[in-house]
Amino acid sequence: ILRVENLTKTYSSGGRELTVLHGVNFTLEPGDTFAIVGPSGSGKTTLLGLCAGLDRASSGSVYLNDIRLDELSEDERASIRNQYVGFIFQNFQLLPTLTALENVMVPLELRGEKGVAKTAQALLDRVGLGQRGHHYPTQLSGGEQQRVSLARAFANRPKLLFADEPTGNLDGDTSATVVDLLFELNREAGTTLVLVTHDMELASRTQRIIRIKNGTVVNDRMTELLKE
Ligand code: ATP
Repeated sequence: ILRVENLTKTYSSGGRELTVLHGVNFTLEPGDTFAIVGPSGSGKTTLLGLCAGLDRASSGSVYLNDIRLDELSEDERASIRNQYVGFIFQNFQLLPTLTALENVMVPLELRGEKGVAKTAQALLDRVGLGQRGHHYPTQLSGGEQQRVSLARAFANRPKLLFADEPTGNLDGDTSATVVDLLFELNREAGTTLVLVTHDMELASRTQRIIRIKNGTVVNDRMTELLKE
């Protein structure tokens, strides 16, 4: 479902060039659960953005369902994202002019479902935000916005879900709930999970962990082997 080949990314800013990814490769099958770990600044978020088609690689390629993202225009990539991809990113992706409830309703409406407000309310209840449906994204904390994104992902049932530090700013109990919900989505909808995290407890629940350091994959192994 996702194939990354020899991916490199160089940022230029202020006349300087900084290569943050050096030839990254991996392939994910549908339904896989996958964690990207590594030190701060190692290129994890950059890698996630390239895989999700939010940004373009400097060289190499990303195939999503055998569609080569780097050959597409921005509009075409946006259309692929809408079709296949969900996001749980901080400060990202919730529509600011809609309430939490309306944000969750959007994918249901797009599919032409009936009783969308009720379904959306049930999903907000599920992420513990049943009382906050009428709040706008700016009236919610970062962690609450991430949970609204998670409720929306349940509404959307994407083929692939990209989550950047999904437990990064949550307390222990909420974090455990969010993690359980992510894996429920994987089981219920077959959603492939791609997580960037510093949380090794979360990473160890995925099937496969890649560790990157200075933009290079230094370790790629199945989680079961790590537990031996
Ligand atoms: P963290 O764990 O701290 O979130 P990360 O592993 O996700 O870090 P990235 O956010 O991918 O790391 O950043 C990798 C490097 O690329 C960093 O040195 C960062 O400063 C740099 N970088 C990221 N985005 C840009 C940009 N738009 N322009 C220039 N440099 C950037």
